[in-house]
Amino acid sequence: MSQQRPGTQCLHAGYRPGNGEPRNIPIIQSTTFRYETSEAMGRLFDLEESGYFYTRLQNPTNDHVAAKICALEGGSAAMLTSSGQAASFYSVFNICSCGDHVVSSSAIYGGTYNLFAVTMKRMGIDFTFVSPDCTEEELSAAFRPNTKAVFGETIANPALAVLDIERFARAAHAHGVPLIVDNTFATPINCRPFAWGADIVIHSTTKYMDGHANAVGGAIVDSGKFDWTAHADKFPGLTTPDESYHGITYTEKFGLEGAYITKATAQLMRDLGSIPSPQNAYYLNIGLETLHLRMPRHCQNALAAAQFLQNHPKVAWVRYPGLPGDPCHALAEKYLPHGSCGVVSFGVKGGRKAAETFMAGLELASIATHVADAKTCVLHPASSTHRQMNDAELAAAGVSPDLIRLSLGIEDIEDILSDLETALERV
Ligand SMILES: *Cc1c(COP(=O)(O)O)cnc(C)c1O
Repeated sequence: MSQQRPGTQCLHAGYRPGNGEPRNIPIIQSTTFRYETSEAMGRLFDLEESGYFYTRLQNPTNDHVAAKICALEGGSAAMLTSSGQAASFYSVFNICSCGDHVVSSSAIYGGTYNLFAVTMKRMGIDFTFVSPDCTEEELSAAFRPNTKAVFGETIANPALAVLDIERFARAAHAHGVPLIVDNTFATPINCRPFAWGADIVIHSTTKYMDGHANAVGGAIVDSGKFDWTAHADKFPGLTTPDESYHGITYTEKFGLEGAYITKATAQLMRDLGSIPSPQNAYYLNIGLETLHLRMPRHCQNALAAAQFLQNHPKVAWVRYPGLPGDPCHALAEKYLPHGSCGVVSFGVKGGRKAAETFMAGLELASIATHVADAKTCVLHPASSTHRQMNDAELAAAGVSPDLIRLSLGIEDIEDILSDLETALERV
């Protein structure tokens, strides 16, 4: 079959039932798989043959869904994780050890910032955070001899800064390391970071991919294009024998297309075990089947809400990459020509207090520690997801104390705007 378009991939990629087989991806809710002989199972353990033996490592339901996400991103291999946090951690830890260093955009999800700046720092991995709009010199100066990766978000949650993927990829490659991009907010429907030079893409599938607030999950996709062997000294975990896995050298045995994801599965998933349940992968797949229909509606509603807020006398400022005049509009036109995401951030005049009054006045939109699902919801990050940050760290992450993050669902826009209007009247 010729290369399918994204909408068709949302329905069909990753699973093609044979004659008389279930049309839906079956939920293989089983921890283990049966074999006739120990030799047969031994060949799987040696990675001599592919097959299933224990769901912590691989499960058919999970693999079909991962293959769909892989196709949507245009990658060479992919895996699911039990959360976006696990995907962020694995994506970096798969190529970094104690004593290594990573350059990261400072405009990233609060949970990722904590993971990097606190937890992974305790593991001996150092991060340098750079503003996504830093100069070439600042970006270049952030690298060290022990730098192993560059990390950024296509559209930062919640700052809504758009990453100049090409520029960050160029800097990463000039220093012999891959660019890892968190593509959660854009989804492959609106941006495919591999086309712009990114090497690894990760997702919190909890957001638009699931799309209905059903299941927490994550995914890691490899482009298969980064040449680990050209920088073999930097990536010994991929280019020298893994003594914990029968002396396998991942790049030799699985090629550039398979080395990174096989290592993350055979080593990290084996030891750390953040596997999603097959049931959750099934829910994720139901969401993926309509991703291409939902994303345009999220974007359309977000643009309308952003324009409404921009023209409202009680609103101090609005950030939405799709809004003409937004600081990231030019980058959005380049990387996200069909729409960016359904999330708008803004400040109500009167700061933190006014933000709280506004939020309490909403009826349709619920206050939820969530974004990017079918129902409109709203959050005040400074008092919730980002509350561990001081004012300087908040500013670096692009989160002001009055910032309200509004996640537009796929309801009728008239009802959403009337809810916003009513709540603003009370401020
Ligand atoms: C939510 C989110 C994460 C974390 O994902 P979980 O599924 O909640 O673990 C990571 N990155 C971005 C951009 C997110 O929005």
